[in-house]
Amino acid sequence: MNLIKTTILLFSISLTGISEAEDKKAIGMVVTANPVATEAGLKILRAGGSAIDAAIAVESTLSLVEPQSSGLGGGGFMVHYDAKTKTIDYYNGRETAPLGATKDMFLDKNGKKLHFLKAKDSGFSIGVPGVLAMLEMAYQSHGKLPWKDLFDTAIDHSTKGFSVSPRMHKSIKFYGKYFFKSRDHGPLDLYNYLHLDNGKALPVGHILKNPKYAKTLKTIAHNPSDFYNGKIAAEIVASAQQTPNAGKLSKKDMANYKAVKRAPYCSKYRENKLCGSALPSSWVSVSMVMSLLNEAPKFSAKGSDDPANWTLLAEALRITYADNNKFIADDDFVEVPIKGLMSDAYIKDRAKLISRSGANNNIVAGNPWDYQDKNAGENFGKDATPDTEGTTHFVIVDAEGNVVSMTATVEGYFGSQRMAGGMILNNQLTDFSFYYEDAEGRPIANAVAPGKRPRSSMSPTIVLDENDNFLMAVGSPGGRNIISYVAKAVVGILSWGMSAQDAIDLPNMVAKTDRIRIERHRATPELIKALRDFGYDVFESEGEISGLSAIVKLSDGSLQGGADPRREGTVGILYSTDL
Ligand code: GLU
Repeated sequence: MNLIKTTILLFSISLTGISEAEDKKAIGMVVTANPVATEAGLKILRAGGSAIDAAIAVESTLSLVEPQSSGLGGGGFMVHYDAKTKTIDYYNGRETAPLGATKDMFLDKNGKKLHFLKAKDSGFSIGVPGVLAMLEMAYQSHGKLPWKDLFDTAIDHSTKGFSVSPRMHKSIKFYGKYFFKSRDHGPLDLYNYLHLDNGKALPVGHILKNPKYAKTLKTIAHNPSDFYNGKIAAEIVASAQQTPNAGKLSKKDMANYKAVKRAPYCSKYRENKLCGSALPSSWVSVSMVMSLLNEAPKFSAKGSDDPANWTLLAEALRITYADNNKFIADDDFVEVPIKGLMSDAYIKDRAKLISRSGANNNIVAGNPWDYQDKNAGENFGKDATPDTEGTTHFVIVDAEGNVVSMTATVEGYFGSQRMAGGMILNNQLTDFSFYYEDAEGRPIANAVAPGKRPRSSMSPTIVLDENDNFLMAVGSPGGRNIISYVAKAVVGILSWGMSAQDAIDLPNMVAKTDRIRIERHRATPELIKALRDFGYDVFESEGEISGLSAIVKLSDGSLQGGADPRREGTVGILYSTDL
């Protein structure tokens, strides 16, 4: 927007409240977990870019300003809605395990699983980063502006420096004692990058430059294939192969990497169509929660004010998690009973476990194999996949109504603690089960194998109305809690009639087992008591680390955004007057 337009607009707003709505119709939107990244996306939309163009600017900027969560050294999933064709595509940029990966790579010499941090902060936790290949693939179909221009903001901030945000500072402090302090334990470049000379975490507002990342981005802007086949690939491989705790990631693994485009999974919730990422994402579990709620006793009209409505959601979540643990994995490698899990008959039977009268404790996985033609029925063993939180979610709607809902991750805080080309490299392979079989010798679906992608909880979601028009996009970081966070937001918006922001602000309730967690400061004492009376062992948590971002299209066609107050997200609006 130029200065004159801005002045006129501000003038008209201050004088006439009513004309504000007309002048300022929101026709596009960017919601990310960081204000600098939101602005990067908005800049692209203002230049006439598509949602995919903006996603590239956002992710390359997040890589710099929110390095604890995601970046080009990591992976992600995206669902994209094409407003012209009214179709949704799913893009899979999940990391792959190197060819040298072995099923026992997370076990010590006695066959016991490694300590999580020993595995995380190592070269062998690094999978081939998939985010860039995925974005490039989506750009081939949906990009509008020149590829080389999409990295300008990130290059600018890495060259001139950006201001360390409160959350980035907090993450550095939080991870403080786990950073390598001596070269004997691991490479020190990340520690040096994130700390002052006196060893203190970079303070809030510190201007941090990353010239190596600027160089990487300039290379990518002109020759993206360098990332998988050139100097950048060589740097990534060299970093992963450093001792101690070297990994086996090779140039061949980098060159072999392919992002995947597939049809999304879709299911019905009430009259709407819910779509999201297919395997190895756990989105099928978000779908299952919502499908169970279709069959469960109906919510009362009191929405979030009625504790009984929360118990219905909790029961649907607990049933879903029991199945998720057991069956979800990379279906290029193992047979997953996805048809059974999504079949009406299975959902109807599982929903019978939900009652209004009390908690159905000791819920175990069902048998979805019985609900599909192919009764391949591998009797998978008890999973042993650990869980951490280092992820981000953003949503974008462009001026033409195309939508991106993308979750990206380096897996744990600051990934593997190794860097290459100014990027933090992921530790995504710890999203595999550390054991490959359970105590009874049954194979574990999410075990490591060369070329395999680890199971993920990331669940980018897009909801359409009955005519396939866009209705909402949502997603969140939070490890396995993502399923609970996203389901809460969908229920809040679609069933309890809340705005995107109010639904995000609702207490997060994570219901995986007989013990359920709810945020103490957001839940009312009445709700907590009611959950206990219903039969749950309730843990009042001090807070949850969701990072929900949502955009909703209202019935008048305008857009409404919501960003999670638990992180530092912002809603950026593209106005009709901006173009
Ligand atoms: N790496 C996890 C996954 O892909 C996400 C971790 C997080 O959300 O923080 O499911």
